[in-house]
Amino acid sequence: MIKDIVAEIYPLDRTLVSEGLDRSLEVLGRRMPPGSSYRIEEFPAGKDYWTWTAPKRYSVREAYLEVVGGGRVVDFKDDPLHLVSYSVPVDAVLSWEELAGHLHYSAKRPAAVPWVFKYYDAAWGFCLSKDAYDRLPRDKKYRAVIRSEFADGPGLKVGVGLVHPEGGPNPEAGEILVSAHICHPRQANDNASAVGVGAAVAAGLAARPLPRGSASVRFLFQPETVGSVCYLASHEELIGRTRAAVILESIGNRNTLAVQRSWQGATHIDRVSAAVLDRKAPDHRSLPAWAMFSADEKVINGPGVGVPSVMFTRYPYEEYHTTDDDMDVIHEDMLQEAADVVEETVRIAASDYVPARLFKGPVHLSKHGLWADYRQDREASLAVQKAMLYFEGRHTVFDIAEALGMDYWAMRGIVESYRAKGLVEALPVPARPQDPAHFL
Ligand SMILES: [Zn+2]
Repeated sequence: MIKDIVAEIYPLDRTLVSEGLDRSLEVLGRRMPPGSSYRIEEFPAGKDYWTWTAPKRYSVREAYLEVVGGGRVVDFKDDPLHLVSYSVPVDAVLSWEELAGHLHYSAKRPAAVPWVFKYYDAAWGFCLSKDAYDRLPRDKKYRAVIRSEFADGPGLKVGVGLVHPEGGPNPEAGEILVSAHICHPRQANDNASAVGVGAAVAAGLAARPLPRGSASVRFLFQPETVGSVCYLASHEELIGRTRAAVILESIGNRNTLAVQRSWQGATHIDRVSAAVLDRKAPDHRSLPAWAMFSADEKVINGPGVGVPSVMFTRYPYEEYHTTDDDMDVIHEDMLQEAADVVEETVRIAASDYVPARLFKGPVHLSKHGLWADYRQDREASLAVQKAMLYFEGRHTVFDIAEALGMDYWAMRGIVESYRAKGLVEALPVPARPQDPAHFL
């Protein structure tokens, strides 16, 4: 069950660079298929990656807020969400007026504790339910204690897997990237759910490899934004090689599946994902880039990278960024449907190619063993004959299937039969068919 992976990762205190994040990458290592050569890469704190600097490692020895002469209000050891992530150390006695600006609650969800992070602000704070906040005495003194540490190492960590097609990698076909951020303390749907779906897709592609000659599929599990910046800045050679990316985000809650399209808008991965969703999740939503928000596609589909990226998500959901984002939000059927859609999208995107004709005139089908008897199957017979009109080196197999209203794999079988007879050669799908003209 995909839910088992989510359940194992979700309780960990997964701030950007932390013990909890390391542990979740290790848990994931046991879930990624052996054929994915999963490994963990490290990026030293303080080092610059493009315009970013890798953050320091964060740990908390203890953190609590108490009423002077009274009881504890909140304690980090009860729930990591009580502390604003990356709070700087403090030990101070404060009046209500001095304290109030450091307290966070959710007006929309008064019984839940919100998750608040100040990764780059050198600030501190505590989070509590609105109900608890309202009950706090205004005329008392408070003691705030945060014993946190910022260390230079170990550095920021990213988990990477790579699944090759049957027969090994085909450098000409490049790579497809699947990415899910693995940070966010004690949040199940955001984004342990997507990490679980990513691992399930990797397992599917390892169990039933992509056809020979397909693109390889790279899996990236990283602290959101800064993690993909560190990784891509250190592997710029991957940018040209990566044909498309699929970003997975908050995907286990009960809601329709949504696809947020690439910044370019109508690229190969946009069209493939739309076709797969039409067939497998007809009630899905389709939105332009940044319509909801932008996760790691802001990096992967961003300035100087520009890899067409679609994001799959079931956002929005009411429990978002609160203590209510727990296993009750997660449904196995939602995870399975998402994994199925993502795997099929990746399978088509990775295995597609541009067939180019090596013949003139209509192929003498029966002489080459390609004839399909129209008396037995008129559709199949016509498809074999019409397909050859599209072998001009401009249309992918997916394009031809769409044009003829056929299933991709059925059309791929037909094109492969021409190819096996040496009548067609396979050209790679252009890496950026719409770049840069459509990049605004
Ligand atoms: Zn989030």
